[in-house]
Amino acid sequence: MKALVYTGVEELTYRDEQNPIETKGEGILKVHASGICGSDMHAYHGKDERRVPPLILGHEDSGKILNGKFKDKTAVLNPLITCGKCEYCTNKREHLCPERVLLGMNKPRKRQGAFAEFISAPEQNIYELPDRLDIKEAAVAEPTAVSLHAVLIGEASLKKPLSECRTLVQGAGAIGLLCSLILSKIKGNKNITISDPNKLRLKECSKYIDAKFVDPQDKEINNDGFDIVFDTVGLEVSRQQAISVVKPGGTIIHIGLTQPSGQFNFRKATLQEVTFIGTYCYTNKDFENTIKILANKDIGDLNWIEYRDLKKGAEAFQQIHKGTCAAPKIVLLP
Ligand SMILES: [Zn+2]
Ligand SMILES: [Zn+2]
Repeated sequence: MKALVYTGVEELTYRDEQNPIETKGEGILKVHASGICGSDMHAYHGKDERRVPPLILGHEDSGKILNGKFKDKTAVLNPLITCGKCEYCTNKREHLCPERVLLGMNKPRKRQGAFAEFISAPEQNIYELPDRLDIKEAAVAEPTAVSLHAVLIGEASLKKPLSECRTLVQGAGAIGLLCSLILSKIKGNKNITISDPNKLRLKECSKYIDAKFVDPQDKEINNDGFDIVFDTVGLEVSRQQAISVVKPGGTIIHIGLTQPSGQFNFRKATLQEVTFIGTYCYTNKDFENTIKILANKDIGDLNWIEYRDLKKGAEAFQQIHKGTCAAPKIVLLP
């Protein structure tokens, strides 16, 4: 099969790779679409120790199953593979499973990713698509599930309804846009500010959601001004801003992880009882609900997805790296 292989830092090669082998309990997906994630970009920059070249990246995929229990069904893969037996897996918090592995990673265990014609995954990770959900659009189920999980965790931590909150979303990438869409269209939160230094991105996102779009330096982002902050960036500087601008008693939801360490205002966090919550992936239930949300068009149409040819994937990575593409999500088509 053809695949886009991560062969070295900032290097992707479109080449022949071995097809996935049919294994009992696993289904092979003929990939119709697979999205480029921020974490793929992180790997591309050589900054992810769980993704070591050579490796096929990609974990946001949809397509048609060729064999086994789901043969001939259109489906999306939940890329998070878990043990099913531990205290987390048996208590609906599968994403915290100590044995978890993600498609498109090779540490701790190798699982090839979805920037390829075919990919295999355990059958429990295969989610059939409802007829009304477009097979290509379904590739954004994964980042939508990440965002849904983040919003739900934030909601549970607050002492007032999300609809009454003033919200800051840092980062206008797919996760920033999706969190904002879920907040606005599902949770009735209409007081959202989205910040990003990339003006192209802000302008593109402004077509899909009613919010304030500002540069991270804008005075709109005032100290002690926000009930809840979603940091989809995860830089030291974004975390420092998050803690400055969150209201006393407010919540910071930390989703992006561009820089894993750095200074933080623990004084304010303590004296003002700020809740800081890290969030990772989604539960199986979140993933299931996401498919319903997308099929019902609860977050509106998905015209913000830009489709590109998998063959030209290297170019897409380059453009995201340079910040020259406006689309919050690029989906590659084999
Ligand atoms: Zn992702
Ligand atoms: Zn487990």
